[in-house]
Amino acid sequence: MSQLAAIKKNVKKILAEIPQGVQVVAACKMRTSDEIQAAIDAGINIIGENHVQEAEAAFNKIEGQVKWHFIGHLQRNKVKRVIGKFDMIESLDSLRLARELDRECAKTGAVMDCLIEVNSGREEHKYGIMPEEVEKFTEKLKELKHIKVKGLMTMGPFIENADEVRPYFKTTKEIYDQLKDNDSEMCVMNYLSMGMSASYKVAIEEGANIVRIGTNIFGPKG
Ligand SMILES: *Cc1c(COP(=O)(O)O)cnc(C)c1O
Repeated sequence: MSQLAAIKKNVKKILAEIPQGVQVVAACKMRTSDEIQAAIDAGINIIGENHVQEAEAAFNKIEGQVKWHFIGHLQRNKVKRVIGKFDMIESLDSLRLARELDRECAKTGAVMDCLIEVNSGREEHKYGIMPEEVEKFTEKLKELKHIKVKGLMTMGPFIENADEVRPYFKTTKEIYDQLKDNDSEMCVMNYLSMGMSASYKVAIEEGANIVRIGTNIFGPKG
């Protein structure tokens, strides 16, 4: 089977298995536009990008009705380039980034949908807001009129055994549920983005309604 045919087969299998109401983001880092297009042709409608430059290379080549989610660490000096291009920033990980997004969106009156990235493993080298600080963070974001918080995203520690990631998904779901009691116009808990190729099934069991899948769609990276 050709590589593109394999991608299509993978997508169809995943989409057939995934419960209703769960959205699949294809995590496209380091993939060619032909590979991304094959995934879209097989039914993927959300593209996840980690790098602004890679995304810009793909924007013009990709055909079809797709949404673009930014899922990597966004540098503040690249914020200008995501506005009007991305439908959602899943990786809002600092107040400084939020303020820069707000400032740039204000120029055109845009409102950016964001998920707050939670550092559920409390790992020093990882981006994201510490679990106990998420609520305070949402309070600070309320002053920013051009950012709409739509939920939470987490990576969790990189562990092979998916069951060992489960506690981190649980932690994130608990924060999600607590915040949901206080939904407001600019901060609603609609989306919980958790789980990657090795862990998306466990993540769905723990309440994820967005999963981000790379390897299981495109194969291992060359
Ligand atoms: C690469 C990536 C994924 C997908 O990882 P796989 O293990 O290849 O499925 C999900 N989320 C983020 C933020 C990523 O960078």
